Amino acid sequence: MSEFTNVAEIFGEDVFNDTVMMERLPKKVYKELKRTIAEGEELDPATADVIAHEMKEWAIEKGATHYTHWFQPLTGVTAEKHDSFITAPMENGKVLMSFSGKELIKGEPDASSFPSGGLRATFEARGYTVWDCTSPAFVRHDAAGGTLCIPTAFCSYTGEALDQKTPLLRSMQAINIQALRLLKLFGNETSKKVTPSVGAEQEYFLVDAGKFLQRKDLIFTGRTLFGAMPPKGQELDDHYFGTIRQRIASYMKDVNITLWKLGVSAKTQHNEVAPAQHELAPIYAEANIAVDHNHIVMQTLKRLACEHGLKCLLHEKPFDGVNGSGKHNNWSLTTDDGINMLEPGKTPHENIQFLLVLCCILKAVDVHADLLRESAADVGNDHRLGANEAPPAIISVFLGEQLEDVLEQLISTGSATSSLKGGKLKTGVGTLSDVSKDATDRNRTSPFAFTGNKFEFRMVGSRDSIAGPNIVLNTIVAESFKEACDKLEGAEDFDTAVHDLIKEYAADHQKIVFNGNGYAEEWVEEAARRGLPNIASMVDAIPALTTEKSIKLFGDFKVFTKPELEARVEIQYEAYAKAINIEAKAMIDIAGKQLIPAVIKYTTALAESINAVKAACPANVSVQTGLLEKSSDLLAASQNALDALKAMIEKAGAMAEGAEQAAYYRDAVVPAMTALRAPIDELEMIVDKDMWPMPSYGDLLFEV
Ligand code: ADP
Ligand code: MG
Repeated sequence: MSEFTNVAEIFGEDVFNDTVMMERLPKKVYKELKRTIAEGEELDPATADVIAHEMKEWAIEKGATHYTHWFQPLTGVTAEKHDSFITAPMENGKVLMSFSGKELIKGEPDASSFPSGGLRATFEARGYTVWDCTSPAFVRHDAAGGTLCIPTAFCSYTGEALDQKTPLLRSMQAINIQALRLLKLFGNETSKKVTPSVGAEQEYFLVDAGKFLQRKDLIFTGRTLFGAMPPKGQELDDHYFGTIRQRIASYMKDVNITLWKLGVSAKTQHNEVAPAQHELAPIYAEANIAVDHNHIVMQTLKRLACEHGLKCLLHEKPFDGVNGSGKHNNWSLTTDDGINMLEPGKTPHENIQFLLVLCCILKAVDVHADLLRESAADVGNDHRLGANEAPPAIISVFLGEQLEDVLEQLISTGSATSSLKGGKLKTGVGTLSDVSKDATDRNRTSPFAFTGNKFEFRMVGSRDSIAGPNIVLNTIVAESFKEACDKLEGAEDFDTAVHDLIKEYAADHQKIVFNGNGYAEEWVEEAARRGLPNIASMVDAIPALTTEKSIKLFGDFKVFTKPELEARVEIQYEAYAKAINIEAKAMIDIAGKQLIPAVIKYTTALAESINAVKAACPANVSVQTGLLEKSSDLLAASQNALDALKAMIEKAGAMAEGAEQAAYYRDAVVPAMTALRAPIDELEMIVDKDMWPMPSYGDLLFEV
């Protein structure tokens, strides 16, 4: 890539964005498409043909040979099938390049191999991808050449959502309708649309590709299944925000340039807490686009790592003993005319609309804490949530001093009359200018924190799609907006009614507010006293999807039907069981074929050396015999643990898929994996480094 980059010039150059559409499409077609995007009306086939033709011409100029419907099935990753633009050869042996409106709007991948949770039997494998014109198409350049990627939704023949995008779009419609109602109550007649704005901060690890390839655990599962702690971990906090090493900096530069060209507004980058851990955050965008962009970010991070001799690990917990990775989902509500409904202003106590919005969100989060928790449930995330590095598995809301004070006033006196001010920051150094402080400090331990004019949901796993959490957020808030509007729209005295409602919500849902240290043991006890759910694992979180409450919520707002929810439950249990099964099998493979043989070699060499030393001179061989005894004991323990694990996964494999099997994996298989890891990690500290068949934690984390 070139040395000098003019970001403004390259930004969005590979995107079929508004500028391109305006330039290329006939005015009438452009207007019609814009109306579809804004108001969700259907496109007529003739218009679609014109758009498809222009999109193809543009893509070919950008070097595209293929197009693909890019979609998000329930595998957690995106899927695509490429078709070239060529038509059947003509008589003269040449081909034409074509792309019709039909091909743009609808695709029909053989859907039988994607998870459907029983929604679609394999013999009825029809599934459709449908163009989502609200997220712009783009040309991706990689080893395959140029590919026109068309963001699409993925549904079954009978219209059930088989993906993440369809319910997300449905939830965006729901919140739009209810938020507009709420705005109207306060006299807003100008805003036409409300969209959730989302900014996802993405954490990731980078390791050397050569070393990665020597670790079968990383190859098969994305995380290390063995590994003794190196002498140094993250205790010095010297990596966090530290100087970015040159190899990594050059990688980040390529990532940024690629993302900018794809219209992803990569903004912030820094070293994270754990060694070899980093973060990238784009500027927030409309929820739907933010979800797509986050997928592009994850794919770009992975792809470009390979070009730099690196591997990018997106797993939530690649290494034991140092922090894992998450994804902070920043969320707010923005109107088409630029109003952020979560902006408190300087005097929040006077901002009645804001207080109502805030209290509705508190209510939504309190009532549906289980659903929010579920939306962040992921096999890898089980290693983080509740450990001392990520928010606890208990949902609570951090409001900060200023808003908590307003809330207190509301509850105790019935009205809020003042707002705490931020004041000036005093450094005690004359040459440093006085800067004004925020009215509220930060709280890094809260899973759901108010941060100025947005909420930051911090539970999401680094590898997971952010679609799930945003579907839940949009829908639960739509519900509480609806309930508030239902009450207030008919009120005779609006001012009194809204005042009473705010007070009622604040009092009823104050229990979800917690400004203290979420990592402290006392909080777990306090939360239990308050009756807040503490859902420790993914397996325990899944049932939240199909409670009566959830079926009603998602049904009322037409986000998920009951069968769609049931399908998701099934898919989640299966995903959990399969992931643990792969990890267990990988451990058996690595321990049986690499580590135990290495230890046998080591002990054999040690025994030979003891004999040799004894024969040469009857010297004291107590060190060698001590090591031999210790390693032989650990070797026996490893083999026993391996056999036990083998028996367990056989038993698990024979069980019917579902809740019970998933619970067995968690309760029996996972502890058996830990039991196998323990003696082997101890052995790693004894056996000669030269004889250990894979790179250590130290090699992976500190020699990137
Ligand atoms: P932090 O200090 O929390 O690490 P970052 O700058 O890394 O903050 O990320 C903050 C994220 O929140 C960015 O993606 C940013 O664009 C996003 N964000 C800022 N304001 C809003 C908003 N009103 N709504 C949604 N997201 C927002
Ligand atoms: Mg950040």
